[in-house]
Amino acid sequence: MPEDQSAYAIAQEQFDRAADVLDLEDGLRKVLREVKRELVVHFPVHMDDGSIEMFTGYRVQHNLARGPAKGGLRFHPAVTLDEVKALAMWMTWKCAVVGLPYGGAKGGVIVDPKRLSLGEQQRLVRRFATEISIVVGPESDIPAPDMGTNAQHMAWFMDTISMHRGYSVPATVTGKPLAVGGSEGRPEATGRGLTFCVLEGLEELGIQPAGSTAVVQGFGNVGSVSARLLNREAGMSILAVSDSTSAIYNGHGLDLEEVERYKATHGSFAGYPDAENIEAHEILELECTVLVPAALEGQIHHGNAERVRAKVVAEGANGPTTPEADDILAQKGVLLIPDILANAGGVTVSYFEWVQDLQAFFWEESEINQRLRHIMSRAYKQVSQAAHGRKVSMRTAAYALAVDQVARASEARGIYP
Ligand code: NAD
Repeated sequence: MPEDQSAYAIAQEQFDRAADVLDLEDGLRKVLREVKRELVVHFPVHMDDGSIEMFTGYRVQHNLARGPAKGGLRFHPAVTLDEVKALAMWMTWKCAVVGLPYGGAKGGVIVDPKRLSLGEQQRLVRRFATEISIVVGPESDIPAPDMGTNAQHMAWFMDTISMHRGYSVPATVTGKPLAVGGSEGRPEATGRGLTFCVLEGLEELGIQPAGSTAVVQGFGNVGSVSARLLNREAGMSILAVSDSTSAIYNGHGLDLEEVERYKATHGSFAGYPDAENIEAHEILELECTVLVPAALEGQIHHGNAERVRAKVVAEGANGPTTPEADDILAQKGVLLIPDILANAGGVTVSYFEWVQDLQAFFWEESEINQRLRHIMSRAYKQVSQAAHGRKVSMRTAAYALAVDQVARASEARGIYP
């Protein structure tokens, strides 16, 4: 993260750019550039050694004009309220850009889950769920996984809320295991949605995906699935991947199955035999067709944007590019597919999961993927058309479409009382 601008300041600056394009009226601007609710909780957890640790967590709701709040839960040592507010605002725009009837939210706990046993993680999730249960529920605010959380955490979350109610409430959270009301296709949804966007982008540029190349920063849920699908389904060579501890490069393309197997047994890519170890920062500067930042915020900034050599940047992570870097990439002619579009596949299938849970009627994976493709391709085309029509970047166009939707909903509802 660049030291000079917080994630929330960046989110607000991105909003301001879209509000200017829309010539948004002052009162609405004031409403939409702030978050609606911030809940901060400090809670104790019994550790395995018998001690008690205090943890701090957040749940922020940005705007509820278009429906209940939706957004992930992040477990990471660097979580801050400022970051969660930015992520909540991004969720509002993301849901609007793909046309889901939700507002935006986000949550997080300051913790490194890798340092906790499974039992400690379970107690942490259950107590955190209890603390934020005052704002969470199928009609009000529906969490999902994000960095550091997975389907098992969501199952414990759902079970905790259900224990309080006295009956099962599967629609209270998405990204659950299939056994407790999860959806087919949810684990791959973000990477799959990103792949659909990349294919649309390459088609616009007249580039054949087969034989072109991709580089992926971050090899968690979003990064690993994106790499796999860009490789297997789009026929692209994956030249380099990285995680929080190491980065590897092979100019002829990595064998992803081998790479995944190596990481699963060794915990990182370090020492992987069929590739060169490179410095973490180099991964963003490699020559390739598509660069997928799929780790943290603020990775492409004024200090390195000039050295980005990809033709397309598809933002798997939320907020990986700062506004200054946006301008530099635009001047270089890079096609940037913004986070609120590129990684919206996850929340789209989360929406399918919520609908299936509410109806207790479940769909086949092929149906999920087909509907996802339809929504992602439609959203990509709308954003691209708006970008060309308004002569603005894809990010500003996506924001303008999203902000317009939310502004119209807010206007129609009016200011209470
Ligand atoms: P994850 O915890 O599964 O994976 C994160 C990965 O990033 C890990 O491989 C980690 O080692 C790596 N990483 C962390 N710091 C790094 C660094 N400095 N350099 C390189 N790699 C680093 O998380 P995820 O769910 O894949 O989320 C990744 C990003 O995608 C986040 O910004 C998240 O908000 C966003 N996102 C996730 C989803 C989803 O459905 N999971 C949906 C939309 C957006």
